[in-house]
Amino acid sequence: MTDASDIPVRVRAEIAALPPYRQGRQAGADAYKLSSNENPFDPLPGVVEVLRESVGVNRYPDAAATLLRQRLAARYDVDVSRVHIGAGSVSILAQLVQAVSTPGDEVVYAWRSFEAYPWLTVLAGATGVQVPLTRDARHDLDAMAAAVTDRTRAVIVCSPNNPTGPVVSQAEFDAFVARMPADLLIILDEAYAEFVTDPDAVDGTRILAAEQPNVVVLRTFSKAFGLAGLRVGYALGHPRVLDAARSTAIPLSVTGQSEVAAIASLQLEDELRERVGVIAERRDRLAAALRETGWRVPQAQGNFVWLPAGEASMTIATAFEDAGLIVRPFDGDGIRISVGEEESVEKVLHVAASVVRDLP
Ligand code: PMP
Repeated sequence: MTDASDIPVRVRAEIAALPPYRQGRQAGADAYKLSSNENPFDPLPGVVEVLRESVGVNRYPDAAATLLRQRLAARYDVDVSRVHIGAGSVSILAQLVQAVSTPGDEVVYAWRSFEAYPWLTVLAGATGVQVPLTRDARHDLDAMAAAVTDRTRAVIVCSPNNPTGPVVSQAEFDAFVARMPADLLIILDEAYAEFVTDPDAVDGTRILAAEQPNVVVLRTFSKAFGLAGLRVGYALGHPRVLDAARSTAIPLSVTGQSEVAAIASLQLEDELRERVGVIAERRDRLAAALRETGWRVPQAQGNFVWLPAGEASMTIATAFEDAGLIVRPFDGDGIRISVGEEESVEKVLHVAASVVRDLP
């Protein structure tokens, strides 16, 4: 939709022009779904059990998700006021951007990065400033710093970057924060933090210890913890900044079921970490084998790999689909492939090797 005049009620022009959030394709039973960076493992029995015991669905949940906040506060050794829960980390992103932006304000982020960033920025009435990634698909923090103006209200740094995979290093991030105005919100989106194996990568929890009041760290139960369907994520940051996010939140959107499942997952963290290790090892193997076939796969630190297929992206994605592999193409740019079931690895490699010679 691009024209507000066809809509029977008055809709903001920028919303009329805004396509709804586009999800990775769903897959049929006979295909591997590698399009949404989900966890291929079934939920742990302990998590299923608490869901089955279930909390009363006739009652509203605790709007503050107090128990989960307490568990996370204990997990990270911070005061409970430094933890905020949302229906997925994407909803906290929206809250934060909304809390700081008025029309004409700017939100700076790298591009290409998570597709929700431009969309949330428009929803908040702000203007997105997209800073191109470097040639090796990393954040260009110098260029991002240079893009900050007196209208900038937030900078989003995504590490590991979805969809390309590289991390920002701790040293780079610290230097970046030190250069930024003290009252500028810096959102460190670490949705894939648990998969990171690079020892130099930024770690949001270290920033928390350093008490950087303008930095908010986002994490989620959707990826490493395998609860994407339950929609629960969290933010760690300064209590007053998190209060501002809470003020913009749609009330009661985190369900009681999400809260108990997240608490159960935290209790089973060691078991979940083992699975994360399996996925990280599978990712490294997949990335190395793809490089051997000639693909220039950038550093892969999430649960996905990036094929820089350029103009051939849509055609190559169809070749994957024909082989029963649902991947995520970004037209003109590349293809993101989630690390899925072990059996999918060989299949991905087979298709990737057969199409690499068609690249310009
Ligand atoms: N940040 C990034 C970088 C992501 O890739 C995603 C999910 N695709 C999210 C945030 C949101 O995750 P969720 O809302 O499920 O927590």
